[in-house]
Amino acid sequence: MQEVNVMASVALQRCPRCRKGKMFCTPAYNYLEFHKMHEKCAHCDLKFEVEPGFFWGAMFVSYAMVVALFVTEFVALSVLGLLRSGMIYYMVPVTVIVLLPFIFRYSRVLFLYWFGGIKYQKP
Ligand SMILES: [Zn+2]
Repeated sequence: MQEVNVMASVALQRCPRCRKGKMFCTPAYNYLEFHKMHEKCAHCDLKFEVEPGFFWGAMFVSYAMVVALFVTEFVALSVLGLLRSGMIYYMVPVTVIVLLPFIFRYSRVLFLYWFGGIKYQKP
């Protein structure tokens, strides 16, 4: 069987140990349930919340993602000459609300891959 690349498994939000099991229950565009995670991996039985409150640390990752998004958005609009007075007050909230499911999910996925202490095990 073909080995799954770590970047692909992060992008597809897969289990860090087997890279097969999905971490989230619903598609990201389901705004009412995008936050629902599987408790354990369906393939290797890994418990995703390594310890109680583990995903609180993902807030720091999401904060960094929002800052990076804001800076990118600000620079892009400035360079293109589209930045107007007062625009900054609604630019960040609109971006964060639209991208909330992706920011939430990828902050958790990246935090688990970086700080979960879980190593990939070949099947
Ligand atoms: Zn797994």
